Amino acid sequence: MATERTLSIIKPDATRRNLTGNINAVFEEAGLKIVAQKRVQLTPAQAGAFYAVHKERPFYKDLVDFMISGPVVLQVLEGENAVAKNRDVMGATDPKKAEAHTIRARFAESIEANSVHGSDSAENAANEIRFFFAETEILP
Ligand code: ADP
Ligand code: MG
Repeated sequence: MATERTLSIIKPDATRRNLTGNINAVFEEAGLKIVAQKRVQLTPAQAGAFYAVHKERPFYKDLVDFMISGPVVLQVLEGENAVAKNRDVMGATDPKKAEAHTIRARFAESIEANSVHGSDSAENAANEIRFFFAETEILP
């Protein structure tokens, strides 16, 4: 298994409830190392471009509004199989369908306000990391 990097976002529902540390503990206990992290307020343009793949979906406008409703924590996670491992610890998009030990089952408020984003492939991870981070900001 190769060492990989993936992009994680702690979403506004979770920063609002002061859950950054609880969520980071899950990543670290799973063997994912936080090699870059910054708390930012996304602009409408940034959130819209980041989720452009969902532009035609009925939930797109609400999703962008939600993602700019408060600060997010942008992170690069590194580890063995980091993309799949992060998706495992996140759980299913809909917290009602997520396994009990996962971040979304434990912390998410709804299918939209579901506490975390994680890249879904190595290729998307590379693009998403580049969207938010300069290589010099990533410190393994
Ligand atoms: P994931 O974040 O698990 O990769 P998607 O890429 O399908 O899920 O969707 C991106 C984000 O859009 C979700 O994390 C969630 O915040 C939101 N979303 C997805 N499906 C819905 C839905 N049916 N209704 C409202 N929001 C949704
Ligand atoms: Mg996705």
